Amino acid sequence: MSSSIVYEGALRVTVTGVGVYVLDLEGRPLFFEHGFKSYERGLSGVLVRKSWDGRRRVVEILQDAEKGSLLRSIYNVLEGALQDASSEARDYLELAVGRGLEWLKEDEKRFSELYLPITILPPDHYLSTVLQAVVGCIYNRCSFCNFYKDRPYRPKSPSEFRRHSLKVREWLGNGISVRRNVFLSDANPLSAPKEYVMEYVRIAGEVFPEAKGIYSFADYFSTKLESHDYSKLASSGLRRVYIGLESGSKDVLKLLNKPPNPDEAVRMASMLADSGIARGIIVLVGAGGRSLWREHLEETVSVIARIDPGKDDMIFLSRLILSPTLPYMEAVKDHLSEHEMDYQEEQFREAISDLGVKVASYNILESIY
Ligand code: SF4
Repeated sequence: MSSSIVYEGALRVTVTGVGVYVLDLEGRPLFFEHGFKSYERGLSGVLVRKSWDGRRRVVEILQDAEKGSLLRSIYNVLEGALQDASSEARDYLELAVGRGLEWLKEDEKRFSELYLPITILPPDHYLSTVLQAVVGCIYNRCSFCNFYKDRPYRPKSPSEFRRHSLKVREWLGNGISVRRNVFLSDANPLSAPKEYVMEYVRIAGEVFPEAKGIYSFADYFSTKLESHDYSKLASSGLRRVYIGLESGSKDVLKLLNKPPNPDEAVRMASMLADSGIARGIIVLVGAGGRSLWREHLEETVSVIARIDPGKDDMIFLSRLILSPTLPYMEAVKDHLSEHEMDYQEEQFREAISDLGVKVASYNILESIY
């Protein structure tokens, strides 16, 4: 027994006792519950399984063999669902089943021609259309970050960005209908030359007129825009900017090798708010180790209070992920245990919630596109 419908721009197939499968209207699986497990697939082809270990979500990336066999069994299930599909859903389901695994592999190849790997996104943008306005990070020296070590920084010219946007649109096809927003990557598109930034947002809105909003990462130290620039960007559709504050403590910022100027973060956040652009402020849980625990907590909360978040703003708590190749590992020796990290995250959550601000977890390991 099965049912298939088109709902909120996606094809949703439910097969009793087997699973629920959500695909875009070009037949790309997006997420599914299958065999009592949850999966998400990015446009790049990455497929992750998500489970719960009693304390937190566990994310595993499936290797090629397991991925192939799982997708094959899913296409078998979808084929079986064809007989019960509603007339509206049938065409899309037939398309997905007809295309199958081989088409998906070709689609993944096309993805890699359009994008360099999208290494990180805010948790509320896994289902946005990402446009790579700049390549890499203009700073690229934070001691805890290796997202963009594989590429030199380069802002795309407006004409190159326009070509990229048009190609992404064409490639997504009907798959666009499930994607509500546009997200500008890589690390700091707002640090490109000002005339480029204005064009990035304008072009994104022109090529994706159905998008509800345009969103972007930014840093607070290399972005040179002023209030009147943000006002123009707001009127072109920029809705929220995500700023990696990491900490309000200058000592912690020095260990992170991030310019230790939280006042600049407050200034930028104020200009954004005055222009009607919401702020997503990212805090790095665990930064500074045990010795700077209290300073990290108190000074970060104090900076957030000065930013004075409103109802459209969000504070994201992102846990520090340690890796032996990071210079941060050398700079700090008293790293928090997982248990201590849980406790500090809880302390942040309570203190920030007390300010009346929305707080969400931001697990960078879950970021897929
Ligand atoms: S944390 Fe942000 S600003 Fe720092 S290197 Fe990474 S991407 Fe660049």
